[in-house]
Amino acid sequence: MRRRHREIGGTILLFPAGNLAQSCLKQGSPAGRANAGEAVFAVSTHFAYMEGRINAGRRTSGMRLLLVEDNEELSALLVKSLEASGYGADAVTTAVDALNVLGSTHYAAVILDLGLPDADGSTVLRTLRQRQNAVPVLILTARDGVNDRVAGLRAGADDYLVKPFAVEELVARIEALLRRPGQLLGRSLELGNLVFDTVGRQLFIDGQPHMLSSRELAVLEILLRRPGRVVAKRVVEDQIFGLSGDVGSNAVEVYVHRLRKSLQDLSAAAAIHTIRGVGYLITAT
Ligand code: CA
Repeated sequence: MRRRHREIGGTILLFPAGNLAQSCLKQGSPAGRANAGEAVFAVSTHFAYMEGRINAGRRTSGMRLLLVEDNEELSALLVKSLEASGYGADAVTTAVDALNVLGSTHYAAVILDLGLPDADGSTVLRTLRQRQNAVPVLILTARDGVNDRVAGLRAGADDYLVKPFAVEELVARIEALLRRPGQLLGRSLELGNLVFDTVGRQLFIDGQPHMLSSRELAVLEILLRRPGRVVAKRVVEDQIFGLSGDVGSNAVEVYVHRLRKSLQDLSAAAAIHTIRGVGYLITAT
């Protein structure tokens, strides 16, 4: 297929040869009814679908990922790398396109840049979760964006990577996300004889309510959302302390230690394991 490149408002749109916008107009698609600015998004989104179909022929794992990244060079590099690792990868560059595509297409996971030209990536994430879409999301953030990372995790991200990062790490993290059992959106998280009500912030063991400190509960929640999977210490740290910014070097260890002791004292049928130098995981016992 021949393509033309056009630069509009800092976003490079790829048009297939032939006049797609004209055909959208003829078919009475949203692009035909929208004003010029919206038509640009619609055309761009349409291309993303086409690109997805093109990429679909090359993938080998059956896992299809959506990459939302406005840096064209980085996006192209990541798509190539993901495909080389056996994934299908579709790429869009704006929040609007991302939400459009995610509204109609199921992806195994989403790689989401937070700094997008039309909206913050965390807005995309929040909207997704409001739609009850539990697709695993890994966010990409700038080096110093601690607050962004925290906002992203709180908006429902599963993991994050700080730019610049090694592509191998991205692939490894995607693999980890895809092993996730998918209770991200659960209001109530269960493991062994534990039930954690994430809305009421209350832990029940064998049906009995128990009091824990808010930080112990926060540690418990992040581990329970990924049962049997190692959660990186820095992810726990950022989610719990990031905004306050005054984390002692062993603060997470302290809270994990307290939580572990509380669970033991309460005869919980679950244990927290420390994976030295990596993080923590919770398993049923
Ligand atoms: Ca960006």
